Amino acid sequence: MNKSRMTTVLLLLAMLVLSMVFVPLVSAQEKGTVDSSKTYKLTGTEKKLIEEYNFTVEDIQYYKDLGFDAKTILKTESKVKYIGSLPAVVQEAPYRPMLVADSETQKAILGHIDGFSVSDTEKKSMKEAMSDIWSRMPDGITTEDYSTLEEIGGQLNSYLGDRYWKDEVTAKWTATPHGDFIFHAVMNVYDNRYWANYAKSYADDPDSMDTGFARYYNHFYHPVFPTAGGAPNQCAFYGAIALNYYTAGDSFNAFKNLGYSSHYLSDVGNPMHTDGVIDQYLDEAPHIAYENYVYSNWDYGYNYRSIVSSNTASKTVTNPVTATKNLAAYSNPYYDTLWDEITANPSGFGSDIDVRYATSKVIRETAKYNVGLAEYIST
Ligand SMILES: [Zn+2]
Repeated sequence: MNKSRMTTVLLLLAMLVLSMVFVPLVSAQEKGTVDSSKTYKLTGTEKKLIEEYNFTVEDIQYYKDLGFDAKTILKTESKVKYIGSLPAVVQEAPYRPMLVADSETQKAILGHIDGFSVSDTEKKSMKEAMSDIWSRMPDGITTEDYSTLEEIGGQLNSYLGDRYWKDEVTAKWTATPHGDFIFHAVMNVYDNRYWANYAKSYADDPDSMDTGFARYYNHFYHPVFPTAGGAPNQCAFYGAIALNYYTAGDSFNAFKNLGYSSHYLSDVGNPMHTDGVIDQYLDEAPHIAYENYVYSNWDYGYNYRSIVSSNTASKTVTNPVTATKNLAAYSNPYYDTLWDEITANPSGFGSDIDVRYATSKVIRETAKYNVGLAEYIST
């Protein structure tokens, strides 16, 4: 990526509106049975997840309980792995999700182009340009393709926003999930409802405290070159203040600042806050549509909050800058699955299982990091 594109990234940030075999899994003592334990034979796909994707047997059981079978998990995880294996020129491309789109999403993109308000000749050349780019994936992609991707991707976002989500104007990942992530984390670590509520009631404030450029820059971190975004430093800044107050015995100010700190951490647990700087500058429609989907399924529907409230695991935080960057790097590759599924099915992605799996995965990890951050202030 060249200098002018890095400059563009920074400028556009400002413009963003916005392992085999038999494993004891279940202990069952049933009347009349001889054995007190059952063994569960892993399927081939489950073994693959363990051996090649760092899944544990517990992880597989966890996601099975949420309704995800191993094949569903593998679909998204293999895409994550694939993205990580791609040449830098692809990983760093604007609208990377368009490049890694499966045939279903490719078809949908071509169909959306037909709906653009441009001449038939332009539509034809855009469709030919995309088909040519896909035919050269991944080794034939060069930075010279970036302008085509930017142009078509930008128009695509605008088109989808106008056609499907015109009435969805505000992003809602903000208030409710932010408060819940840190509330449950503090309850986990300190078992103190007062402290948990202090943190909760301040966790959404950074979205109004930061204005102008900071409103976007501070709530974002792009973990792929060119790295950009202020979330890691913001998390660390308030985390240090929280730690000092906790040490001094001022619990109100300690947990208030923990609330602030957690906001920036949790923001990058959302893949939409880790990519698409350029993708979204024209129109952050998919971002807003996605956050509204998460919000509407927080306490109802898929009840994503239950992933947070049931979590007791922790990701140790010794350095909040590193922790925020690590969480962003964790969530970022799921950006492509979200963007692709939303693009393939703008009006029905809400019932898409891949969107639901990716969302559950990043929410679980974000919950673990929040527990780690809550522990951090008393270290
Ligand atoms: Zn934010």
